[in-house]
Amino acid sequence: MDITVSKKLGSLPPYLFAEIDTAKRKARQEGRNIIDLGVGDPDIPTPSFIIEKLYEAAKDPKNHRYALDQGMPEFRIAIAEWYKKRFNVDLNPEKEILPLIGSKEGIAHMPIAFLDKGDFVLVPDPGYPPYKNATILADGKPQVMPLKASHGFLPELDTINPRIADKAKLMFLNYPNNPTAAVADRSFYEKVVQFATLHNIIVCHDAAYSEVYFNGIKPMSFLEVPGAKEVGVEFHSLSKTFNMTGWRVGWVCGNEKVISALAKVKSNIDSGIFQAIQVAGIASLRDGDSVIEQNNKIYGERCQVFVEGLKNIGWKIDKPHATFYVWLKLPRKVKSSVEFCSILLERANIVATPGVGLGKYGEGYARFALTLDKEKLKEAVERMKVYLVDML
Ligand SMILES: *Cc1c(COP(=O)(O)O)cnc(C)c1O
Repeated sequence: MDITVSKKLGSLPPYLFAEIDTAKRKARQEGRNIIDLGVGDPDIPTPSFIIEKLYEAAKDPKNHRYALDQGMPEFRIAIAEWYKKRFNVDLNPEKEILPLIGSKEGIAHMPIAFLDKGDFVLVPDPGYPPYKNATILADGKPQVMPLKASHGFLPELDTINPRIADKAKLMFLNYPNNPTAAVADRSFYEKVVQFATLHNIIVCHDAAYSEVYFNGIKPMSFLEVPGAKEVGVEFHSLSKTFNMTGWRVGWVCGNEKVISALAKVKSNIDSGIFQAIQVAGIASLRDGDSVIEQNNKIYGERCQVFVEGLKNIGWKIDKPHATFYVWLKLPRKVKSSVEFCSILLERANIVATPGVGLGKYGEGYARFALTLDKEKLKEAVERMKVYLVDML
């Protein structure tokens, strides 16, 4: 039989990390000692009090049945309380919060809820691949907003063609940012609200890294800005906050109409999150403050070791503000980010993500995820000193 995929599926770029995984597997098969800083997946285990809650809740038969599509009321209340405590933002737990099977799930379903064929979506570049790819899968057209170092890796809204802005239904934003580690401030979010109001665009702010920050400076929520709830929603996840990437639990909150449209899509595609996971999620939000503190202490130390280490051996590099990523600008001599990452793997047995894999404007950079311990990061710096000296 002749099996052909749809044109739009065929038009998606290969999943970036799949290609890296293949190269890595090959290197491992050859018995090489790989330091993998490629994928943004915390190595720190989920805290035991959260696991205990899951264990307890998993034993209760009433949690074995289909969960409500809209999530347990208790989980939505815990999210509202956490939001109030953390950001001083009021949310109605019934109408303005929707639990998700990981925030990626909600992000990827947004275009289905709002796009008609050919509608535009403003996406940051470089950026998390689902913004662009979910747009393509919903027959929409991604319109790139370049993130440049010269502008603090924030999109320059006043350079967006107004005709394109008028045809855009959605705008994805993500701060603290993966991959650039940039943060956004209040004045930027205020401009976003103005811009979105003017052009009638739904803002989808991805705040997956709101709890990964250094120097005690807490990133703000988009919803803290007046008018934000009129124009958009914010995605959150327990994945990076509590080292729960495998658990698949997050939520979207904000504009009631946007959330009810997304809920309608979801109810036709998936069902509610396993209740035992929601019960564990409640515990993480109520009792997890010290986890966030400990995580950030660990990431802060790692960042110190890696960034200062690279500086000491002659690399030019800015200290990140938040997230666990280091967005390294490549020296002029290096031709491309793919070439850099292959040399890094071949010579030094280190895996990093080529910037171009996260978008055209990521060319000239490589992303290192600080998801290994300090000793490994010290070793990585040592190897770069020995094997990449000619690149500087
Ligand atoms: C990790 C990550 C997420 C979180 O994904 P989950 O589906 O909640 O695990 C969302 N956005 C970005 C930019 C990320 O890097």
